[in-house]
Amino acid sequence: MAKFVFVTGGVLSSVGKGILTSSIGKMLQTRSLRVTVVKIDPYVNVDAGTMNPYMHGEVYVTDDGGETDLDLGWYERFLDLNLKTENNFTTGTVYKTVIEKERRGDFLGRCVQIVPHVTNEIKHRIRTVAKNSGADVVLTEVGGTVGDIEGLPFLEAIRQMRLEEGYENTMYVHVALVPVLDVTKEMKTKPLQHSVNELRRIGIQPDIIVARSPEMIDSESRRKIALFGTIPEDAVFCSYNVESIYQVPLILDEQGMGDFVCKRFGFTECKKDFKDWKRFVDALLKPEHEVKIALVGKYAGLADSYVSMSEALRHGGAAARARVCINYLEAEKLEQNPEAIEVLKGFDGIFVPYGFGPRGTEGKIMAIRFARENDIPFLGICYGFQLAIIEYARHVCGLKEANSTEINTYTPNPVIDLMPEQRGIEVKGATMRLGAHKVIIKPETMASKLYAVDEMCERHRHRFEVNLDYFEELEKEGLVFSGKSADGRRMELLELPACFFFFASQFHGEFKSRPGRPDPEYYGFIKACLDKKLGKPKPEF
Ligand code: GLN
Repeated sequence: MAKFVFVTGGVLSSVGKGILTSSIGKMLQTRSLRVTVVKIDPYVNVDAGTMNPYMHGEVYVTDDGGETDLDLGWYERFLDLNLKTENNFTTGTVYKTVIEKERRGDFLGRCVQIVPHVTNEIKHRIRTVAKNSGADVVLTEVGGTVGDIEGLPFLEAIRQMRLEEGYENTMYVHVALVPVLDVTKEMKTKPLQHSVNELRRIGIQPDIIVARSPEMIDSESRRKIALFGTIPEDAVFCSYNVESIYQVPLILDEQGMGDFVCKRFGFTECKKDFKDWKRFVDALLKPEHEVKIALVGKYAGLADSYVSMSEALRHGGAAARARVCINYLEAEKLEQNPEAIEVLKGFDGIFVPYGFGPRGTEGKIMAIRFARENDIPFLGICYGFQLAIIEYARHVCGLKEANSTEINTYTPNPVIDLMPEQRGIEVKGATMRLGAHKVIIKPETMASKLYAVDEMCERHRHRFEVNLDYFEELEKEGLVFSGKSADGRRMELLELPACFFFFASQFHGEFKSRPGRPDPEYYGFIKACLDKKLGKPKPEF
């Protein structure tokens, strides 16, 4: 039978619940326990797929094609798991199921209510994950902040789970902000006390309180948090600011949190082993070199829009022993001020990420051209892959008006076009080509050296693809398609052998990148940036 840990957050959003949940998972996992994670999002969208990354951050794609909250990315990276669509659900999903059941007549004429019907559906979903995963511990993160109206049914459901699963099988962890005042440098626990009160008003007494503060809490703050939170002092932990978020499990474990959770659940025989994790953190924190990357994107104002990509670049950096400094550049600004393209000279590599719609695409194409013509290492992902093809078609193959029909429906040279099965689809949610699909690698290419396999499964999220009518023309001019779908009709990877490193993929390698095991295309890119900077020959991998 699984044990359940529920994580809630207080005072404000972005208090680090996702990292805390992942860190608790890590502390348990390093003690040989099997863990899985559920993220509950109290918004009404059925999934994250329809949400603007500029407002909500990136959409994380699972192997089974779920378009999920970006916290699933943190769970997967910290815990090296491959989660499923069922690991993330929203108010929208829950109500949709309940309403469908009601329409089918499953409730046999009863009045359908939030308690028990909606709360039952919530508990059922958490237990389904527990059953399907076979995990020893299921961590459930409740999104939003305690006190939000929309979070109430979820808090009610997890409150009931204590009654049904038993005290010894459930644990509530509450994390809240403990600010330090600018002027007096005083640590203030009052907002945290209020949020614990709010949680208790709903009927949940936390077992552990985590103070999220800029620095380690002092003994007076710890005493107050314990006293007003009605927990022993050794159940108060502090998540203070660290250089890298990958240090968070280490600093919490040092404070005894891993042992505390294990003891509470009766896992007594658990010896911890943080060796691999520490090795990765050390490599990350003590680099020998530095590379500067220009990320030319459309959502550059919000780093969370590209969080998996930035992390994959950092994983690559740790493996190459290089600190990766990422500058987020707005592609549109390059269009408005073409001379600004020269700033790209100051970077060791140019990265063009995913994207949707026409805005900023010409700026990205300018950046790709600059990378190719100046032989600056380049990596393009998804839209970055498609735009690299448009750039090549325009400036090398001479198809001056080449474009994607996503950008210009009437282009005379649609080198990128809607996938045939996408035609006629009007509904936006969950209708792209999503999730893991097979990629076959062409022998004797850079891809074959980088990946060192003949085929692999990679995650996708797109509607458009390379138009096969232009395949020959592009290859004739030197562009190599080094990865294709299993039926050979979808282009998945491209490279330019004449360049130091010019590589792009239709799929998203970042979703499979893990600390200590970077995704090959990201590692290859960082390694190439570093080798070029150090004046070394083109990397052979
Ligand atoms: N907009 C492009 C498409 O739909 C690329 C998508 C992406 O970058 N994820 O095909």
